[in-house]
Amino acid sequence: SDRTFTMIKPDAVANGYIGEILAAITKGGFRIAALKYTQISKKQAEVFYEVHKDRPFYGELTEFMSSGPIVAAILEKENAVADFRKLIGATNPAEAEEGTIRKQFAESMSKNAVHGSDSDENACIEGAFHFSGCEIF
Ligand code: ATP
Repeated sequence: SDRTFTMIKPDAVANGYIGEILAAITKGGFRIAALKYTQISKKQAEVFYEVHKDRPFYGELTEFMSSGPIVAAILEKENAVADFRKLIGATNPAEAEEGTIRKQFAESMSKNAVHGSDSDENACIEGAFHFSGCEIF
């Protein structure tokens, strides 16, 4: 489909990067279809990241993602999932290409500024986790 889901993570929100990251997303050709400033509980983070439950960083990840406010958004563009992952760069900011969002705004592997869905199916599931139909335009 032509939609992906993103979160501006607690590190980037705390560091004051909401505006610059939304600007980079818009300049990247994405239309914002839904947008929310919110915070998730540890339990909600555990559900959201359930696919990673057996990974060694699951506890750290869910603790961090529930540690402060985030910005959740549904983004629209042709080839949205793949193009957005290109725009954000590698999971590890040390490996992210110049000009990517993570290169500019991420601190570390866990505090890596943004989330981007990895498939059309997950974009749909993750978007529905945060937004109801009437919040999507
Ligand atoms: P995202 O799903 O957030 O867009 P990704 O697809 O680039 O990230 P995944 O491998 O799906 O990366 O991991 C999900 C998230 O878990 C990463 O964004 C990162 O914050 C965290 N993470 C992944 N690997 C590690 C690790 N080795 N140590 C700490 N945190 C990690």
